[in-house]
Amino acid sequence: MSRDRVLERVAAEDVEFTRFLWVDHNSVLRGKAVTAPFLADRMESGIGLARSRQAANVLDVSQPVPGFNAVGEVRLLPDPDSFVVLPHLPAAAGMLCDLVELDGTPWDACPRSFLRGAVEAAGELDVVAAFEPEFALCKDKPVPGDLTLLDDSLCFDNTGFDAGNEFAVELSRSLRAQGIDTEIYHPEFGAGQHELTLRHAPALRAADNYVWHRAMARGLAAKQGIWATFAPSPKPGFRGNGNHLHLSLWRGGTNAFHDAADPFGLSVLARHFIAGVLAHMPALVALTCASVNSYQRLQPGHWSGAYAGWGPDNREAAVRIPSMLRGRESESVNIEFKASDSTANPYLALGALIHAGLDGVRRELDPGAPLTEDPNTVSEKRLRELGIEPLPRSLEEAVDALERDEHLMSVLGPARSVLYPAIKRSDVRDMKELGTELEYFTYATRY
Ligand code: GLU
Ligand code: MG
Repeated sequence: MSRDRVLERVAAEDVEFTRFLWVDHNSVLRGKAVTAPFLADRMESGIGLARSRQAANVLDVSQPVPGFNAVGEVRLLPDPDSFVVLPHLPAAAGMLCDLVELDGTPWDACPRSFLRGAVEAAGELDVVAAFEPEFALCKDKPVPGDLTLLDDSLCFDNTGFDAGNEFAVELSRSLRAQGIDTEIYHPEFGAGQHELTLRHAPALRAADNYVWHRAMARGLAAKQGIWATFAPSPKPGFRGNGNHLHLSLWRGGTNAFHDAADPFGLSVLARHFIAGVLAHMPALVALTCASVNSYQRLQPGHWSGAYAGWGPDNREAAVRIPSMLRGRESESVNIEFKASDSTANPYLALGALIHAGLDGVRRELDPGAPLTEDPNTVSEKRLRELGIEPLPRSLEEAVDALERDEHLMSVLGPARSVLYPAIKRSDVRDMKELGTELEYFTYATRY
């Protein structure tokens, strides 16, 4: 969308405030808003932001990282293509921003630029992706120790459709009205749990679409007097809200992940890519299961991809290969990365997944034999034979693995590779101090 088109829509829809938003390292959507008369100017110059905001942890405390203190600014520079009019409030719109230096060059702590870099690293290959967010609907905003789910329906239960209908219809239509296509809706495994999938799109657009999905879902729920939470585990015993990432690489309109001669439809390129993802797995999880709360979900038996393997239609494998759709074989081949949730910054998560996979392509890695059994039903010895390593059991372990992963640390660059572990380690400390009840409350209300 051009700048002029944005201005036209702002005028036509009587928007007063246009929010310039970015997603922080903990996947919290933040920003500043500009009034209608000054929007045109600010779309050129951006809005100022203290550098230290990108050092904030989940309790909003900036971490003492060199270069991130009371001094120094960057700019929130909006991408007109990401413009939406917000459906849940009057006269409000938003755009998603790159964080740039004062001279307009990308700031090396900008998550959106990280994903742009990953897309560039794919060279002539186009990265197509889709996010699959799961969320829980609650009767009201949770309070510490109490979260009441909207319904007690079973998985795919028709009564769950009834319970979620008013909300899901409004969310789906609101997204479509802003050019964001949704595809499949269903009540999920847990009571109160629902899922509305997003149609695939070019990688940056796919991540932006996910950001709007979550923002609109939370806003529309509040408008309807209910509460939507995307926390991986909003209450003890909840089976888990994932945010699976689907990905394929395309060359000139052809799916480069597809090979009709392969039993799973996978090309050699796809297999190298999968191998790269597996090779970086424990570290990658620090960026895709990015909170203390993530590890309440990422457990065997939760279908959350807690086993570091790949397998056709295997819902326990971190990399699931969804079976092809009949009649749309070539276009439907993709990989689904399940070990991912909504506390992950979507630009960092998808960017890191791309960088990990491309490393496998570059090094022509072999993913080994697929996991065709349910890993919960095979012996530890057999898992070891298959090369299935256990995934980190805590954020702390995942961050340790990330700091050991030279490739991911190097692509993150000098700022993110220092900031990210510092923030995550502070979250680990803070949550220990807060205790379990406040930990659940914090995630259920922030996400
Ligand atoms: N809720 C599961 C998760 O945490 C996923 C269930 C499914 O969609 O297969 O990822
Ligand atoms: Mg699901």
